[in-house]
Amino acid sequence: MITHSFDYTCPSSLEQACALKSEDSVYIAGGTDIVPALKYGLLFPKLVISLQNVPGLASITIEGGNLVIGAMVGLEKLARYTEHFPNLSGLNHAVRAVASPQIRHIGTVGGNLLQEARCIFYNQTTAWRRGIEPCHKTGGSVCHQAPAKPQCVALYHSDLAPAFLAADCLVQIYRDGNEQQLPLETLLAAPSRVLGGGVLTHIVLPDVENLRQLHFRKHAVRGAIDFPLANAALTVRACGTVRLIMGAMTPKPVTLEQTQSELADSLKEEMPLAAQIYQTAAAEAKKKARPIREATASPAVKQQAMVVVQEVIRDLL
Ligand SMILES: Cc1cc2nc3c(=O)[nH]c(=O)nc-3n(C[C@H](O)[C@H](O)[C@H](O)COP(=O)(O)OP(=O)(O)OC[C@H]3O[C@@H](n4cnc5c(N)ncnc54)[C@H](O)[C@@H]3O)c2cc1C
Ligand code: SF4
Repeated sequence: MITHSFDYTCPSSLEQACALKSEDSVYIAGGTDIVPALKYGLLFPKLVISLQNVPGLASITIEGGNLVIGAMVGLEKLARYTEHFPNLSGLNHAVRAVASPQIRHIGTVGGNLLQEARCIFYNQTTAWRRGIEPCHKTGGSVCHQAPAKPQCVALYHSDLAPAFLAADCLVQIYRDGNEQQLPLETLLAAPSRVLGGGVLTHIVLPDVENLRQLHFRKHAVRGAIDFPLANAALTVRACGTVRLIMGAMTPKPVTLEQTQSELADSLKEEMPLAAQIYQTAAAEAKKKARPIREATASPAVKQQAMVVVQEVIRDLL
């Protein structure tokens, strides 16, 4: 139940939406991430600004060879669109792996990327949280997951983010009358600061023809609804670039640089992949992962799920 009252508005332009945004207001897209946060008493906005009536944010187009996806495109719509492009099969797999059909019918692409990091000590009701000391994320000075850490170590669970990052996606942000393009990685590093009250309008997948392969793998306790224990995405471009991203094991997805560079060398020389590459991937994933306790899994179970990085390499054609 949402126990505090707020105003709700549906502006019909980006200008109006941004003009209404302040520290006391929040944007809402499909609401599947933010409504539970309101119910749990994690947010107390005075105004909720729906982006539903803002024109131009819900289409998928090809412009100048780039795939341009509106931030308000529904997850199900993206799933249906990507079915028709063999080189986007990994993106199709990633979007179909998100939550359940019900959530995919309401949730949006932008909302998926901007979903908050999750933690079993945070995503709880006010009454539940009253039983523990406030942590870094709730105004306190402790982390119940990692007491030695001076900052929050909650994990980011988007299934779309690794696929978009592996495809070198850019994001388009509208703020103060200007539209700006930035790497998705920059937005994910500090979403509130980078958005600065602006609206995420589009995700741009550059040079879609040049993308030869995009693969995605996910492990979850229940495949039909659960957040990922771990996920991974791998791309190969015609120009020889290889990108390998691991998600759900850190506060932001990480790039496995060493593995992707060894993969690029092997593919350039058209050599069969050596067994060594799987060991490199496993070692690099282990070194970079920062698993914490989750509702359905211990850190040890999450570590096992990192086998996704080896599985996604096996998917290479
Ligand atoms: C039971 C459950 C299971 C789930 N499982 C998965 C899973 O397996 N994998 C996965 O990836 N996700 C999962 N999710 C998360 C889900 O995918 C996201 O909740 C959803 O994609 C968010 O989209 P939304 O449109 O509903 O966002 P909202 O809840 O409307 O918004 C989310 C955040 O983004 C901000 N926002 C949204 N759009 C914009 C914009 N255009 N510009 C600026 N700010 C914006 C909002 O202010 C809010 O802070 C799950 C969620 C639930 C409830
Ligand atoms: S990771 Fe630590 S600081 Fe972050 S929400 Fe969980 S307990 Fe709080």
